Amino acid sequence: MSLSWDEEAAPAKQAVNQATLATSEGSAEQVALRVNADDKRIINGKTDVNQLVPFKYKWAWDKYLAGCANHWMPQEVNMQRDIELWKNPNGLTDDERRLVKRNLGFFVTADSLAANNIVLGTYRHITAPECRQYLLRQAFEEAIHTHAYQYIVESLGLDEQEIFNAYNEVKSIRDKDEFLIPFIDTLTDPAFTTGTVENDQKLLKSLIVFACLMEGLFFYVGFTQILALGRQNKMMGAAEQYQYILRDESMHCNFGIDLINTIKMENPLLWTPAFKEEIKQLFQKAVELEYAYAEDTMPRGVLGLNAAMFKGYLRFIANRRATQIGLEAMFDQEENPFPWMSEMIDLKKERNFFETRVIEYQTGGALNWD
Ligand code: FE
Repeated sequence: MSLSWDEEAAPAKQAVNQATLATSEGSAEQVALRVNADDKRIINGKTDVNQLVPFKYKWAWDKYLAGCANHWMPQEVNMQRDIELWKNPNGLTDDERRLVKRNLGFFVTADSLAANNIVLGTYRHITAPECRQYLLRQAFEEAIHTHAYQYIVESLGLDEQEIFNAYNEVKSIRDKDEFLIPFIDTLTDPAFTTGTVENDQKLLKSLIVFACLMEGLFFYVGFTQILALGRQNKMMGAAEQYQYILRDESMHCNFGIDLINTIKMENPLLWTPAFKEEIKQLFQKAVELEYAYAEDTMPRGVLGLNAAMFKGYLRFIANRRATQIGLEAMFDQEENPFPWMSEMIDLKKERNFFETRVIEYQTGGALNWD
């Protein structure tokens, strides 16, 4: 009997799975098949993916624990003041309303793309169980984010069809998603397997696009906009939700960067000059697309923000993402025009910023046995 339901099952892996079924009186051969942490690999590993321990990638496990400690749910956030403000004809300007709708228009489908990319793509190509454990948590967080955006759309009574179809109908949003989709298609293609330099580079490229350019760049105009509203005491419930989402997403991005750097370290042949050049081109393209989205969502200045400020901000973030994965900064040294955004990521420090209900998520999920 084989317990291996992994699509890329190798005979060695089946043998390991069978060994896991043996009792503690396993034969010497079976004991020899036990997982040795040193043998684990992030991709193309041959060790049993069903055995979380012994740990090798402790950073992935630590991020899994941190993600769980940050647990939150959208309906815990009070949306009453947002609803009153939205319904009040004088509550927000036309530009602010456009910004909110365009913003949600991107995000309501973005986290579904991210979730599907993990579940149907990335997950099966990663052979380190600690990393899979984090990806399972991340997939649920993407579901919570989609839930949060849906909850905002529903609370405000927005036209669901308009918002959920924006990624088909609004050019600046569609262009961003069309940039991403080929990289999702690579990983979700049932015929795609790793194990050659060419395919391993395809996987690495998709991981870079998702962590550094999707979660690490394409989310940032949108996050900044809603958090800027919150800083002006507008849409405080939505802003609180986005603050939790930003905290989760910065963890997704950091996990992705650790994953990328470990794959690079374990597979140095993948990081060729031609490959790096290709990645740089993708960074340039992504900055252009996100800037076009900034212009479309803010055709005039709004909330003290304007698209031009985002040009500098996107270059600043892109430089940071590039250096995080070992590429040189590709834009002239840019100043961060929104230093308050880095404080937003550290939610603990800013916990009372919006003066909404404070929830101690770190202990909120603990069971009381008394
Ligand atoms: Fe994410």
